[in-house]
Amino acid sequence: AARRTGAQAIHPGYGFLSENAGFADTCAKAGIVFIGPPPAAIRAMGSKSEAKKIMEKARVPLVPGYHGDDQSPELLAKEAARIGFPVLIKASAGGGGKGMRVVESADKFADALAGAKREAKAAFADDHVLIEKYLTRPRHIEIQVFADSHGGCLSLFERDCSIQRRHQKLVEETPSPAIDERLRREIGRTAVEAVKAIRYCNVGTVEFLLDKDRNFFFMEVNTRIQVEHPITEMVTGIDLVKEQIRIASGLPLSFKQPDIKLNGHSFECRINAEDPEKFTPCPGQITKYSAPGGLGIRVDSAMEPNAVVVPYYDSLIAKLITHGRDRQEAMARMRRALDEFVIEGIKTTIPLHRKIFNDPDFQKGHVSTTFLDRFLAGQSA
Ligand code: ADP
Repeated sequence: AARRTGAQAIHPGYGFLSENAGFADTCAKAGIVFIGPPPAAIRAMGSKSEAKKIMEKARVPLVPGYHGDDQSPELLAKEAARIGFPVLIKASAGGGGKGMRVVESADKFADALAGAKREAKAAFADDHVLIEKYLTRPRHIEIQVFADSHGGCLSLFERDCSIQRRHQKLVEETPSPAIDERLRREIGRTAVEAVKAIRYCNVGTVEFLLDKDRNFFFMEVNTRIQVEHPITEMVTGIDLVKEQIRIASGLPLSFKQPDIKLNGHSFECRINAEDPEKFTPCPGQITKYSAPGGLGIRVDSAMEPNAVVVPYYDSLIAKLITHGRDRQEAMARMRRALDEFVIEGIKTTIPLHRKIFNDPDFQKGHVSTTFLDRFLAGQSA
């Protein structure tokens, strides 16, 4: 398609091709610019185990765990006992929460390991796993980073993606209500060091878990633009995709760290074509569609009346993003926008988002990565 249209470059979006080093190689061989990091960086971060080895060397703090090559079930069980239950088994090649199992006690380890390996093999054709201490009620904090081919490397602050269902993000916000200026600088600096260690170039996200005592631990690097990037654009005023294209064409970053200012607050809700209670995909024809608008409201979507949501892809059909001068204003705008958003003919996650934004704990920012699963189970946060 690129050849036929005479395109000089390909932006892979955030789908499967975006973290496919083979595809990036193929582009290079064809003389077409891949708008993303060098294939070597994609490869280095493609395995969570390899990424941890590199980060360990760069002295980035890791979640206590095991990420070695020896995969014998006996050794893995011994490591799990050493780390201390509960532990989390993760597929090294994993993504999207697949191949992940929480194990509460030693007697459940063997079955969970077999299950995780089976799932990893089916999804990624690779059943290598790692084990981490399962942190109780952490927050998911990720840092947006940017690096150019001239040695420039900087952070565009954090995103808090703690509102997840079964380890899948549903609501994101920036800045995080759990982070002050000092911690922001510290995590940002760590993330920049982490990507410098792999000679990174272009846009990337360094993911961390933050525990109750405000310790942060490296999880992984996503070597692509992410679904939740608009909230960073809203608070920094920087067009991340434009910057990606500039960097891919060899230009230096168009800003320096002190130029980047955090302005106000932003939320994103992922509107998925899903049953909001059962979370099963709900493809079908949209009969009515009317998106909200006005100051501080942004909708990234290709949907319209009569559009058909096909069952072949991810169920994300729209991103609803709000911006306000502070958290309260961004939240009030989100509540209004969720009420005004009309999508009929299929079920969506909008009703669930309304409930989340009306929850007192969420409103106070008192959440963790287990908040939503507990909320859905009717337990208190
Ligand atoms: P994936 O690549 O499949 O999305 P991640 O490693 O990014 O997997 O983890 C996804 C989510 O799983 C995190 O945001 C967090 O909620 C949860 N998680 C991952 N590791 C841990 C851990 N060690 N303790 C507690 N929760 C974790």
